[in-house]
Amino acid sequence: MLQLKRIFSLILVLVLCLGLSVQVQASAIKKAKQKDKELKNQKNQTQEEKEALTQQLNDIVDDMEQTQKRLSAKEQEIKQKEEELVNAKIDENNQYESMKKRIVYMYENGNTEFIEILCNSKDIGEFLNKAEYISRISEYDRAQLVTFQNVVEEVKKQEEALQTEYTELTALREELGVKQASVEKLLADTNTKLEELEQKIGANAARLDKLLKEAAEAAARKKAAEEAAAKAAAQAAAAAAAQQADGGGGAAVQAAGPPVVSGGGQFTNPCPGASYISSEFGEYRDPSDPSHKGMDFAAGAGVPTYAAADGTVVIANYSDSAGNWVVINHGNGLSTKYMHHSALTVSAGQRVTKGQQIGLVGSTGWSTGPHLHFQVEVNGMAVNPRNYL
Ligand SMILES: [Zn+2]
Repeated sequence: MLQLKRIFSLILVLVLCLGLSVQVQASAIKKAKQKDKELKNQKNQTQEEKEALTQQLNDIVDDMEQTQKRLSAKEQEIKQKEEELVNAKIDENNQYESMKKRIVYMYENGNTEFIEILCNSKDIGEFLNKAEYISRISEYDRAQLVTFQNVVEEVKKQEEALQTEYTELTALREELGVKQASVEKLLADTNTKLEELEQKIGANAARLDKLLKEAAEAAARKKAAEEAAAKAAAQAAAAAAAQQADGGGGAAVQAAGPPVVSGGGQFTNPCPGASYISSEFGEYRDPSDPSHKGMDFAAGAGVPTYAAADGTVVIANYSDSAGNWVVINHGNGLSTKYMHHSALTVSAGQRVTKGQQIGLVGSTGWSTGPHLHFQVEVNGMAVNPRNYL
């Protein structure tokens, strides 16, 4: 009996520790999930930046191609213009040379030539025609020379204009080249950032996986420990029953502790040692139990339970569903039910007072873990226990 109690306490401590470690794991898992979300947001942002930069780079490359085409066209035009200039200069030079020859010829041969030409005229009409012809030749030569010189000047101007455009285009190409290099650098940085984020996401996912696995293992260990605790409690109760040979209708009856009255309600808290309320009245749990008829006080196995008010114990025995349970009649149509005990400390027919111990928390009957199911009924109808506490 004593040894069982010792084992039982050890298991209780183990259950509590396991519960704590599950909580710590839950918080780590939450953090890892949050981090995953943050990293993925960052990745999406970076991806958008990358797309914008790629678009920018494509635009610059298009501009480059356009500029290169214009440069090539301009080179072609300049080449043509240079040829034109050469030809214009040749024309100008030819005219100048022939004009010089004609003038030199005329002067070298002296006026006699002129006179000869003129004097060989048959008549005045021919003379005048020849004189005019000579004067026209020189006039024509002069005009031609001016025309050719003008053409040379015009072609030179055009070539200069083309050279200016060419220089501007070259500058534009250089500017685009610089822009392209800077966007390419930004794009490379973005890619590096993306790779880093991918790595972080991967590492975090691996960590999350590990945490989830550990949490599942811890939950399984906790469940096993709780089951062991319940089993040990049931064994302790059975041993007590065997010792006292006082069945109370099949349930083990154990010595009770001192009475405890707590809270300011009509009823005292039936399980002040509970760690939390695991289920409220009216809560949906599963299709077979759509509305919870009582309130569940989650507590370690062996925590004492108390009569909510003065009354008479009408049931104190074992049931397949309620486990070791107690029903107390308080009169005036009011009754209370206490289920899933590991052991009872009262017997049917016994008078109890408010706060008197009636049993020890367990997980007997249809129960998944140690708790006290506390139910309040008015004329056989379950009502919310909170109204009485
Ligand atoms: Zn319950």
